Amino acid sequence: MARYVLTGGAGFIGSHLAERLLREAGGEVVVLDNLVTGDRENVGLLERYPNFEFMAVDVALPYEVKGPVDYVLHVASPASPVDFERLPFEIMAVNSEGTRLAAELALAKGARFLFASTSEVYGDPEVHPQPEDYRGNVNAAGPRAVYDESKRFGEAMVAAFGRHRGLDTRVVRIFNTYGPRMRPADGRLIPNLISQALAGRPLTVYGDGLQTRSFCYVSDMVDGILALLYSGVVEPVNVGTPEEMTVLEMAQMIREAVDSGLEIAYEPLPVDDPRRRRPDITRATELLGWRPQVPLSEGLPKTVEWFRGKLGSV
Ligand code: UDP
Repeated sequence: MARYVLTGGAGFIGSHLAERLLREAGGEVVVLDNLVTGDRENVGLLERYPNFEFMAVDVALPYEVKGPVDYVLHVASPASPVDFERLPFEIMAVNSEGTRLAAELALAKGARFLFASTSEVYGDPEVHPQPEDYRGNVNAAGPRAVYDESKRFGEAMVAAFGRHRGLDTRVVRIFNTYGPRMRPADGRLIPNLISQALAGRPLTVYGDGLQTRSFCYVSDMVDGILALLYSGVVEPVNVGTPEEMTVLEMAQMIREAVDSGLEIAYEPLPVDDPRRRRPDITRATELLGWRPQVPLSEGLPKTVEWFRGKLGSV
């Protein structure tokens, strides 16, 4: 039975990953999370599995994991643009020192190491869609830099461990992902719009709403990450959906799904908000045989239902 160490396993993508490993891979999973943006409720769900273990630690500080480990997945990091304002130093710490410590752990245990990077390494992209060999357009002095640059630093750290220390590495560049267990107060587009719609409030659209994103359902994201983890592919791989849409189209879709009478409230565009984003997934498709399966028409209603339950129960 494989044993996995998963940082950030109390978070949105992390908890789905943990559940899949426990349920389908039949693995033992040790989640390390300080709950700064993770949710105790997600830990509660995972605690139903006998092979699950939780350690409440800040992975940017030294920690110890006892026993054998086959895989280390470093997924911990606040990831919403509102977190960039609220937790700048925590974000830089977890992606720099946190990456180094997790890589050292993997090396010491002889484990394979996976780093959760991001489409934000491409910044506000001038190349569209974004292939992995595009080097990006990040403003190092802007408000998103704490995330973008620390993820870029994390990738450099992982590459150095691979090159100089012989670590067996994988790097996934995660694009916009949505689904159950996103925090309602997360501040990102889909949680904001669904929470607003369910409360009968106007839907906030920043700028003219013509900026684009490509939203991948979380089960597809988990499939892609695990396909990469078990593959022999060492170079970074984009995982996300090529189904691109404007922010305004998403607001209209959520309005139709919940209450077609809702208003749209236009608010200022945040500084450095990327104008467009869509992954080139040729590498994932050709090397991993992965492509997303869940269309928005299926994933969005599931997400709305989950939010309905979550917000109804508080
Ligand atoms: N956005 C919006 N209204 C909101 C929240 C976000 O119009 O209530 C926009 C935001 O400006 C961006 C897009 O939606 O253009 C996606 O933002 P999100 O915070 O979800 O993630 P990002 O892709 O920017 O990291």
